[in-house]
Amino acid sequence: YWLPAGLASGMLAAWGFLRVVRRHLSFEGQLRQAVRKNQFEVHYQPIVDLHTRRCVGAEALVRWRQSNGQLVRPDLFIPLAEESGLIQPLTDLVLERVCAELGPTLLANPTLYISINVAAIDLASSRFADELAHQMADVAFAPSQIAIEATERGFMHANTANEIIQKLRSAGHPVLIDDFGTGYSSLSYLQHFRVDTLKIDKAFIDTVGTEAASASVAPHIVEIGHSLGVKLVAEGVESEDQALWLSSRGVQYGQGWLFARAMPRDDFLAWLAGL
Ligand code: C2E
Ligand code: MG
Ligand code: MG
Ligand code: MG
Repeated sequence: YWLPAGLASGMLAAWGFLRVVRRHLSFEGQLRQAVRKNQFEVHYQPIVDLHTRRCVGAEALVRWRQSNGQLVRPDLFIPLAEESGLIQPLTDLVLERVCAELGPTLLANPTLYISINVAAIDLASSRFADELAHQMADVAFAPSQIAIEATERGFMHANTANEIIQKLRSAGHPVLIDDFGTGYSSLSYLQHFRVDTLKIDKAFIDTVGTEAASASVAPHIVEIGHSLGVKLVAEGVESEDQALWLSSRGVQYGQGWLFARAMPRDDFLAWLAGL
């Protein structure tokens, strides 16, 4: 084929323009814009002492409030944010939001903590730890009131991650391993990563008291926690039977629909006040 040069370049330009438009309209483009405009909300899910049923803290869980008012769950956009370089600004937005909307509550309740989820890349350099230190310089509550949740994927860059984790801990932030037991890594990292808490993944809690294979793994996960001398939080506790099983095995803390769902700030404060 032979096209007149003018037509060919015109077509190329149109194609390039369409590509920009499509990218902008794509899910990724919308997410990028949402990060720029800070169209996110943070909901808080209480973490309770399984024995006393008192609230000891809460996990900050991000939601994307789209322009049409719809709320998008994080498992639908966090992986995309990680792939497209948007997760670091998102982590920062969540941290800022937590400090801004719960600062006074944290100051008034010095033993209450909020835990924040970080991505693997947040532990791959000191960027996030520095950002956190920067934020903490501006708040009156203690660093121990911001806990950091990292999944085993965060330990991909083992040396750096360990360095960052110890840096966070020496600044006073508790570090939790999230979704414990579901990662790709072997358990070997536990020998040289010092952390404060393991969060036992919901998958193991779901099957407690049933015949499923993961039910027989659950007691061993609890044992690993005890032998490491760390605190344990059970995720996804939905029934009283699960709560009783867990506390009878020395799991101190639980999080799940049995106690409360993740709530917007005002509902969370009302829930706290009503305890
Ligand atoms: P996660 O960190 O393991 O958070 C726990 C998830 O389990 C939350 O889902 C929570 O609402 C849900 N959950 C808690 N209790 C129950 C229960 O009893 N039953 C059931 N069925 N579900 C329960 P959510 O809020 O949809 O968050 C999903 C995941 O998205 C989180 O899992 C976390 O990996 C990620 N995520 C959320 N917020 C952030 C964030 O700010 N940054 C990053 N990097 N990841 C986040
Ligand atoms: Mg988490
Ligand atoms: Mg979790
Ligand atoms: Mg989980």
